[in-house]
Amino acid sequence: MPAIRLDGKALADIVRGELKLKIDRRTAGGHRPPGLAVVLIGEHTPSEVYVRNKQKACEAVGIRSTLHRFPADIKQRQLLDVIAELNAHPDIHGVLVQLPLPPQILESAVIDAIDPTIDVDTFHPINVGRLAAGHPRFYPCTPHGCVRLLQHYKIETAGKEVVIVGRSNIVGKPLALMMMQKPTPQNTAGCDSTVTLAHSRTPDLPAVCRRASILIAAVGVPGLITANMVQPGATVIDVGINSVAGKLVGDVAADVWDVAGAMTPVPGGIGPMTIAMLLENTLRACELLDG
Ligand code: NAP
Repeated sequence: MPAIRLDGKALADIVRGELKLKIDRRTAGGHRPPGLAVVLIGEHTPSEVYVRNKQKACEAVGIRSTLHRFPADIKQRQLLDVIAELNAHPDIHGVLVQLPLPPQILESAVIDAIDPTIDVDTFHPINVGRLAAGHPRFYPCTPHGCVRLLQHYKIETAGKEVVIVGRSNIVGKPLALMMMQKPTPQNTAGCDSTVTLAHSRTPDLPAVCRRASILIAAVGVPGLITANMVQPGATVIDVGINSVAGKLVGDVAADVWDVAGAMTPVPGGIGPMTIAMLLENTLRACELLDG
C-alpha cells in the first residue's frame, strides 16, 4: 500500500486562512498591518520565483510586503545601509534577504545586520542561540514547516529515532535542534526525538537512514534517498527542491512511496509550509513589536 500523503499545501492553506482572520481583526481594530520587506540582489531565477511566491502569499493574508531590488554588483556597505534603514522603519516587522548573495557580499555580515526582532527567517545568531537554548523568538521557517506537518498528522515523535540528512544552517541543523528538544510552553515545537544528523561524510548512509522511524532529507540531490534506505512504515519528509528537466523533484526517489508509511510530496509538501511559517513569523514579530 502506498504511503499516506502528508499534504503540506492543504495544511498551509489552513494556516494562511487562520492568519488572514487574525490580521483582518488587527487592522479592523486600528492596528497597522504587518509589513515584510524582501531584499533581492541580482537576477537569480529561482530566487525571483521564491520572492514572487512569498509576496503573493503576503498579499493574500493582508501582510504588506515591499520588494527592495538591487543589482548584482551592489557593494556590501550599500546593502548594510539599506538593511539599517529597513530595521528603523516603523511599518516593517520582518526583513528577509533572499539568499544566495553575490560573492562580494559576506552572508554572515548581512545576517548579523538584521535587527533580531524582525529577523523572520531566524538566521541571526541571537535567534539561533535562543532556539538552541529552548526559548525561541521565532522558529526557522522550513524546519518549523516540517514539525508542524508532523504535529498536524499526529505522527509520534517522542522517543523516536529521527535521521536528518543534511546539516545546513537553514534546514538540517536547526531542525535537529527542534526535533531533539523537550516541548515546553515556550518551545511548543520541541519533539523529544533521538536525532542523528547525517551529511556527505557520513559512512554507510543507507544503514543510518534505515534506523529512522522518521527520515528527513534536506540535501539537494534528486532521488538520493531510495527505497532500500527506508525502514518499512517510516515517515519520510522530503525537503529537497530540485529542478530536473524543468520539473520540480525532491531528494527522495519515487519508489519510496511503496515502502514508507507516510510521506510528503514535492511539490506540495514542505515548500508551501515554509512560506506559511514565514507569514506566521511576520505576524508574530508585528504582535511583539506593536502589541
Ligand atoms: P545545502 O546548504 O547545500 O546543504 C546540503 C546538505 O546535504 C549538506 O549538509 C551536505 O553535506 C549534505 N549532502 C550533500 N550531498 C550529500 C550526500 N550525497 N549524502 C549525504 N549528505 C549530503 O542545502 P540546503 O539549503 O539545506 O537545502 C537542501 C535542499 O532543500 C535543497 O534541495 C533546497 O532547494 C531545499 N530547500 C527547500 C526548502 C523548502 O522550502 N522546501 C527550503 C530550503 C531548502 P556537507 O555539509 O557535508 O556538505
